[in-house]
Amino acid sequence: MLLNPFTFHAPKSITEAIDLYTRLGNVRLQAGGTFLFNNLKLLKRKGLKTPDHVISLKRIADLKGISAQGNALIIKSMTTMDELMDCPLLKGNLDILKCAAKHIGTAPIRNMATVGGNLTCRYTWTEMPTIMVGLNADLHFMGPDGKEQTISAEEFFHSGAKTEKIFTHASIQKDPKAVIVYRRIKRSPQLDIPLLSLLVRALPDGKKLTNTRVVINNCIAFSQRDRKLEDFMNQSRRSKTLAQEALDHMDTPIYDTRSSEYKKHMFRVAMKEAISTITK
Ligand SMILES: Cc1cc2nc3c(=O)[nH]c(=O)nc-3n(C[C@H](O)[C@H](O)[C@H](O)COP(=O)(O)OP(=O)(O)OC[C@H]3O[C@@H](n4cnc5c(N)ncnc54)[C@H](O)[C@@H]3O)c2cc1C
Repeated sequence: MLLNPFTFHAPKSITEAIDLYTRLGNVRLQAGGTFLFNNLKLLKRKGLKTPDHVISLKRIADLKGISAQGNALIIKSMTTMDELMDCPLLKGNLDILKCAAKHIGTAPIRNMATVGGNLTCRYTWTEMPTIMVGLNADLHFMGPDGKEQTISAEEFFHSGAKTEKIFTHASIQKDPKAVIVYRRIKRSPQLDIPLLSLLVRALPDGKKLTNTRVVINNCIAFSQRDRKLEDFMNQSRRSKTLAQEALDHMDTPIYDTRSSEYKKHMFRVAMKEAISTITK
């Protein structure tokens, strides 16, 4: 199917992109394009309005790369899943990002799909949101006025993940002592998108766990924290039975939303396994 015609723009700087984005009407941004162009076909098929302009972010060098700035890790929006997998800076507990990236889609998708596209596409089941909320990341955007806006990943997804700005980068404060576990269950052997995913992160302190963060993606709502379970874990002692006991403290509505019995069961299996790993 041929797409409806549009004018393609390939700016080389963020300023140029912002200028085009502000000046032109009916515009869509393109990162890797893996969702965007399918979406444009779908809109055409349904007889809905398609954009007059597409602005590709691909040639903007300032939107590429992963770097360390003091204690923070900076991941620019146009970083691909392949680049995450190959990045030597993602070591220790930050290899969780590699671990998530390597299960996303297929090799050609990972070669094109970007962190920015994954975070801003507003499909509830994508996986970078869970990782970013779990790592307490901040997301940075550039608005039409050229001003930077920073919002925590948790707040961004809590408020519906909608933006009219250009997402530029994520920043993550390193915390080498935290233990972090990410689990995802795929929907079916044929379709490698997740049925569910979750992340558990905690700071072990002797017999206790502190600063526990449990992030759930039930793939129906955006990634969210299970504060009830977090409270339980922060108040408990580390023990071999904690993972089993924790299952009685999961905030049920987060896991039950339109869920099949299989999905609810798989949540419990994945959660128990993740907490067992944390408490080892
Ligand atoms: C077959 C297939 C399997 C997949 N499997 C998985 C999976 O298992 N797990 C998973 O997490 N994901 C999966 N994905 C999603 C994939 O990882 C990509 O994240 C996703 O396709 C979008 O990334 P992209 O860079 O191609 O974005 P694009 O398609 O270019 O853009 C997506 C949307 O984000 C907007 N956008 C992009 N960049 C910015 C920016 N910087 N600022 C503001 N808005 C922006 C665009 O305007 C567009 O609306 C899969 C995708 C496919 C096609």
